[in-house]
Amino acid sequence: MDNTKREMVCIACPVGCHLTVSTAEDGSVVVEGNRCQRGVEYGREELLAPKRVVTATLAVSRGKSPRVPVKTDAPLLKAFIPGLLDQVYNMEIAAPVALGMVVLENIGGTGVRLVTTRSVLEVRAI
Ligand code: SF4
Repeated sequence: MDNTKREMVCIACPVGCHLTVSTAEDGSVVVEGNRCQRGVEYGREELLAPKRVVTATLAVSRGKSPRVPVKTDAPLLKAFIPGLLDQVYNMEIAAPVALGMVVLENIGGTGVRLVTTRSVLEVRAI
């Protein structure tokens, strides 16, 4: 099986070109089926270093909601995603939580941060 040849749909714009991405004998990446240069860049990155924006929810203590949605502020290398999700689902932050609060910095040394996408108010004891 040729692991260096992949079929994929370019998601860089709504056209959704069907790409065939492969590695030539000299090691260069060949992209076919693209209608523009962005497809070449997308196909190359998907073959060599695929990335995704990660969304999840994080436990909140003393909050009016028990969880807060979070996302990475940039696409993260797929290799780091399982470790990130494992960390996220084993941590908890205390309310109050502000929108856009940085929860994790420099994930895997990539410079990508994990931020909250909603605020959570604190439950106040009476
Ligand atoms: S190759 Fe270009 S035209 Fe085709 S989906 Fe990607 S960005 Fe859009």
